[in-house]
Amino acid sequence: MSVRPLPGQPHFHREDGALHCEGVPLAALAREHGTPLFVYSKASMLDALAAYQRGFAGRNARICFAMKANSSLAILQLFARAGCGFDIVSGGELERALAAGADPSRIIFSGVGKTRAEMRRALDAGIGCFNVESEAELEVLSATAEAGGVRAPVSIRVNPDVDPKTHPYISTGLKGNKFGVAHEDAVRVYRHAASLPGLRVVGIDCHIGSQITEESPYLDAMDRILDLVQAIEAAGVPLAHIDFGGGLGILYGEDTPPAADELWHKLLAKVDARGMGGKTLMIEPGRSLVGNAGACVTEVLYLKPGEKKNFCIVDAAMNDLPRPAMYQAFHAIEPLQAAEGPAQTWDVVGPVCESGDWIGRDRALAVAAGDNLAVMSAGAYCMSMASNYNTRPRAAEVLVDGDRATLIRERESVQDLMLRERLLP
Ligand SMILES: *Cc1c(COP(=O)(O)O)cnc(C)c1O
Repeated sequence: MSVRPLPGQPHFHREDGALHCEGVPLAALAREHGTPLFVYSKASMLDALAAYQRGFAGRNARICFAMKANSSLAILQLFARAGCGFDIVSGGELERALAAGADPSRIIFSGVGKTRAEMRRALDAGIGCFNVESEAELEVLSATAEAGGVRAPVSIRVNPDVDPKTHPYISTGLKGNKFGVAHEDAVRVYRHAASLPGLRVVGIDCHIGSQITEESPYLDAMDRILDLVQAIEAAGVPLAHIDFGGGLGILYGEDTPPAADELWHKLLAKVDARGMGGKTLMIEPGRSLVGNAGACVTEVLYLKPGEKKNFCIVDAAMNDLPRPAMYQAFHAIEPLQAAEGPAQTWDVVGPVCESGDWIGRDRALAVAAGDNLAVMSAGAYCMSMASNYNTRPRAAEVLVDGDRATLIRERESVQDLMLRERLLP
């Protein structure tokens, strides 16, 4: 028997040509649950978390899973049980985290547009920190907390103005971005925050972007944040924690992201060099905890060879896998059974009526109608971004643990999609 792991996804491997997630053949899951189907490896998620935990061994640190990467309840439950907190960006995510058993004191609330109702609910739940993104938000949060007779724990998101060298739509720490307060305004905004009666300043945070595959933007951002911590504390506002955000990339194709433990070794050396090792360190990883843990299994519906392009039409689409359409992102595509025949070059596309509905371009595949393919590294920003465009019900999800597979989300029905709609009288 030959066992071959897939690059970047060690918990997906081939046994005698058949693609497996841990101990379970993906073909068996496709037969049982239909396609498109998301399949996740539990061990892969826990291994990714363990890399951060090793990086922070012996430190006063908190890992908050940025749940917008994958907010399925069972996955949140897995991370909550493993001791993670959560980085949320909406009231909806707060309810999901609480429903999954999250410790409210380990929840931090990011995002540029929190509503008063979301603030009140988060204050009632007793979340650990609000990551505030503007002075206007500081005022509203202070007033909301005061009206409720409490003080809101706050950190201010500072924009370190470093280039994360990633896709512009997922770059967040540059001057032209909507996120955070400008580096040069930070000390003044911190003084303002400290003067507001409904707030308790507890930390500082930043988040420079996503799918970052180089070390240097992180190292530069850390220098700039530590400079600010010194300046803010010198201005009389003590900070108990430094939250360095998320953004670490994963291997989709050719990328070579740094390992979480090695990166943090270098970042922590900078923190220690400033004598700030005693502060609580927080991070908000999303993609790097779940991205390589998932695959989306799809069925080939039709082959449509053409003069300029050959199209391989599959039953998953941009509503299931939005990243190629949104960011021209790359996902590896693997046949479930390694094929013997000669490969041809195909554009793998979905059935949605948009030319942007493609999943992979110019892929060498030996395929026939009825075959199953796996779209790899689909654990992050796929299901959580899925839509019902073209009235397509969202896919089912399965979590694999060793040789056991558990259905964690049923396939949506068309009836589900029409539930809240009303015909005219
Ligand atoms: C999206 C987001 C993250 C997580 O980013 P990843 O690239 O998935 O690690 C962390 N913090 C904030 C504020 C975010 O918006």
